[in-house]
Amino acid sequence: MINNSQQSKDTTPLLHREGQGGGSALKQIAILGSTGSIGTQALQVIAAHADRFEARILTANNRWQLLAEQARQFLPAAVVIANEAHYEALRDALSDLPIAVYAGADALCQVVESDEVDMVLTAMVGFAGLPPTIAAIRAGKPIALANKETMVVAGELINRLCREHQVPILPVDSEHSAIFQSLIGEVSPIEKIILTASGGPFRTFTKEQLQTVTPQMALRHPNWDMGAKITIDSATMMNKGFEVIEAKWLFGVEPDKIQVVVHPQSVVHSAVQFADGAVKAQLGVPDMRVPIQLAFSFPERLQSDFDRLDWFTMHDLTFERPDTDRFRCLALAYESLHQGGNMPCIVNAANEVVNRAFLVGNCAFLEMADIIEKTMQRATFIQQPTYEDYLATDKEARRIAAEQTHPSPSL
Ligand code: NAD
Ligand code: MG
Repeated sequence: MINNSQQSKDTTPLLHREGQGGGSALKQIAILGSTGSIGTQALQVIAAHADRFEARILTANNRWQLLAEQARQFLPAAVVIANEAHYEALRDALSDLPIAVYAGADALCQVVESDEVDMVLTAMVGFAGLPPTIAAIRAGKPIALANKETMVVAGELINRLCREHQVPILPVDSEHSAIFQSLIGEVSPIEKIILTASGGPFRTFTKEQLQTVTPQMALRHPNWDMGAKITIDSATMMNKGFEVIEAKWLFGVEPDKIQVVVHPQSVVHSAVQFADGAVKAQLGVPDMRVPIQLAFSFPERLQSDFDRLDWFTMHDLTFERPDTDRFRCLALAYESLHQGGNMPCIVNAANEVVNRAFLVGNCAFLEMADIIEKTMQRATFIQQPTYEDYLATDKEARRIAAEQTHPSPSL
C-alpha cells in the first residue's frame, strides 16, 4: 500500500524508503511482461537511463522471439517464458549468451526473489500477475505496479503483505501515479479523489449503436496505445471500475469518495481534493513512460525527452459525468466494492473471460456486463477470503462466465 498522507497510519515511511538517489549502484529491475505495451516502454526508460537502471530479469508469456531480442540487447541475468512450450526455442536462441533461461508460471515467482533484484515491475496482464507479485512482496522487493488486476482481486491481502514486509508500491497506472504525485508533501486526509477517464472509443455512442460494435472498433483507443485486454476494458469502462478499486486499496479511500470524471483529452491524469477545497492534479501529454520512469526513480525525477504540453495549442479541456447506463461495467465494479470479500475477484475473472470472448467473437459488446452480473450472482461469495480462496474463486467464476459465452452471429 502506498500512502503519504494520514489515510493510513502505518504506511507513511514506506514511500520514502526507495530510490533516494545519488547512489552509484544501478537499480536492478525485474520486468514481468517485458514484451507488452508497458514492458517495452519500461525498457525504453531503462535504455535512456542506463546510468541508473539495469534490466535484471525479463519475462513473457508467448512472444519468445521478442523476448530473445530484448535479452540480446539488455543482457539480463535471467529470462522466463511462462508458456513452457516455447522453452527450447528460447533457450536455443540465447545459447551463446550467459543468460539463465527458465519456463513456467512458478519460475516467475522464483526469479523475482533473487537477491540482486531491487524492484519488480508487474507489467503482465490479469490474475496471472497475482502469484509473482505476492512472491516479490514476500521477498521484500518494492513493486512498480502496472498489473491493476492484482489490486482488484486481492487489494486487502496485498496491503497486509506490504505492511508485514515493509514493501512500498509505486503506481504505474497513469491515474494512480497522478494521485500519488498530487499527494506528495500532504499530511491531511483526502476529501475526494477525482479519477479521470478518457471515455474510450464509444464515449458518444448510443446504447443502440453499442449493440453492434466490433472488437476492431473497440481496439481503436483515442488516446493510448495499450495491450488488447486493457483497451477493451477501456471501451467498456471496466478499466475505470478497476481503477476505482485500485485507488481504494492504494490510497485508503472509500469508493464514495472516488469520483470518476470523463475527460476525453487525457491531459489531466487525475486529481485530489482536500478539506479546504483545494484540488491538486497532475497534467501531461499521455505517455506511459512518464509514470513508469517516476516509479523507477522516485523520489527523484529524471530528465526525459518526452513531449511537453503545449498550453497554447491544447484543445479545450472538457469534463463529463460517466454514464453507467451505457457503461454498466463501471457500475458493476462499484457494486463489487460495496459487497467486498471476493466479489471484485469474481468480477475480474468473469471480465477476463468476456473480454477474451468479445475479442474472438463469442460475446457481443453489451452482453459482457450481463455475463459479469450473472457470474456475480452465481459464484460462491466469501466475506473474508484467503489466498487459496482467491485461487478457487478465480477458477469458479471463470467457469461460470465461460458457460454463458457463445459464438455471436452478428460479429
Ligand atoms: P500487453 O498485453 O501489451 O502485455 C502483457 C505482457 O504480459 C506481455 O509481455 C505478455 O507476454 C505477458 N503476459 C500475459 N499473460 C501472461 C501470463 N499468463 N503469464 C506471464 N506473462 C504473461 O499488456 P499491457 O497493456 O502492457 O498491460 C500490462 C498490465 O499493465 C495490465 O495489467 C494493464 O491493466 C496494466 N496497464 C497498462 C497500461 C498501458 O498503457 N498499456 C496502462 C495502465 C495499466
Ligand atoms: Mg489507467
